[in-house]
Amino acid sequence: MVSAEALPARTVVMKFGGTSVADAERIKRAARRIVEAREEGSRVVAVLSARGKTTDELTAMAHEVSPRPDPREMDMLLSTGERISCALAAMVINDLGHEAISLTGSQAGIVTDTSHTRARILDVRATRIEAALDEGQIVLVAGFQGVSTARDVTTLGRGGSDTTAVALAAALSADVCEIYTDVAGVFSADPRVVPNARKLVQVSFEEMLEMAASGAKVLQLRAVEYARNHGVRVHCRSSFEDGPGTFVRSEEEIEETMERPLVTAVTHSREEARVTLTRLPDRPGVAGRVMTVLADAGVNVDMIIQNEPESPGAAADMSFTVPRSDLLPACEALEPLREELGIGELATDAAMAKVSLVGAGMRSHPGVAAKAFSVLGQAGVNIQMISTSPIKISCVVREEEVDAAVRELHTAFELGVGAVQPEDPRGVHRPVVSSP
Ligand code: ASP
Ligand code: MG
Repeated sequence: MVSAEALPARTVVMKFGGTSVADAERIKRAARRIVEAREEGSRVVAVLSARGKTTDELTAMAHEVSPRPDPREMDMLLSTGERISCALAAMVINDLGHEAISLTGSQAGIVTDTSHTRARILDVRATRIEAALDEGQIVLVAGFQGVSTARDVTTLGRGGSDTTAVALAAALSADVCEIYTDVAGVFSADPRVVPNARKLVQVSFEEMLEMAASGAKVLQLRAVEYARNHGVRVHCRSSFEDGPGTFVRSEEEIEETMERPLVTAVTHSREEARVTLTRLPDRPGVAGRVMTVLADAGVNVDMIIQNEPESPGAAADMSFTVPRSDLLPACEALEPLREELGIGELATDAAMAKVSLVGAGMRSHPGVAAKAFSVLGQAGVNIQMISTSPIKISCVVREEEVDAAVRELHTAFELGVGAVQPEDPRGVHRPVVSSP
């Protein structure tokens, strides 16, 4: 028989975001939390973000000296923010009587491709971390960075510390990857817009992917993808209060524990812009050309609508959305195409936003779109573009209308604290099963 002492210790990866390590007091608080986990007997790896607005300040610093900072040097610069947090936390932990060691992404064995400022993790060679854990040390890893196959320092894109944490959790077969932030978990809507938004007990990887892609800021999109692909259990929780936050886990695990509500959350993003190309020639290959020049310019196209020309061979119109910050590069990339293809007009609108309903429950229920669009209609919100997936409905609306749209939908689908949720979009109510 195996005795309890012989059981392998739990391994936890704890990630602390920028606000959770913003000043000396908060670093000490995070360090105490890390030490508590160690004292409970876990093997502990902590991934830290840069403190407060450090990454923004470093970026601004670069632009003070150079109009187009070299991406390799940008990564040398940006990666320092996370190193500062880790070194400071290690000092605190050592003072608390535990052994801690801080590591850069490179020292931690995080190997990436060579695309500076948005590198992808290719491999995690965690032997050094494993060795330190075996010696009983607490390991602090600088988030958001790695070393490229060309042996240069790279960073993983904004919010990348989440991905560092998930990748380490996967490599170490950790029991859980805990994401500590300044909010208590994942909410049914942004609590700044909807005061009675509810903290979700759990969401599925698929829902979290849709939510991250449609504006929820709790987790970096790539981190969710990585967690899903490697089956990493993620727990998003507050660094300022105890108690459980939100678990992100597989659809199967969730199905076993609760009945699915129709809609899980309403998300939104404000930073959208719309581009419309009129009188596009109606022939094969045109849409491909348009999207290729945008992809080559690094522009991320989101929603695309192309209408059917009135008669075959007549001209078509195409509209799509891009992040607002990509609007200028998008227009610059499209301008030369106007003559090449004989496009009519290139019109833009920078004041767009997007509201989305996400929920695995809608996969098996018709009528969610009908209800959502009616609710927006009654609120006088004009829907400009629509896109759907099996578990998401997104509408592009004017930016000044997005808050109202979020609130109306959140109320109509009864997602708030204390609300009951409809079994079926057309009626019959039952109480929420998942309330804590
Ligand atoms: N410090 C980086 C950022 O602000 C990475 C992170 O915090 O996840 O985006
Ligand atoms: Mg973050």
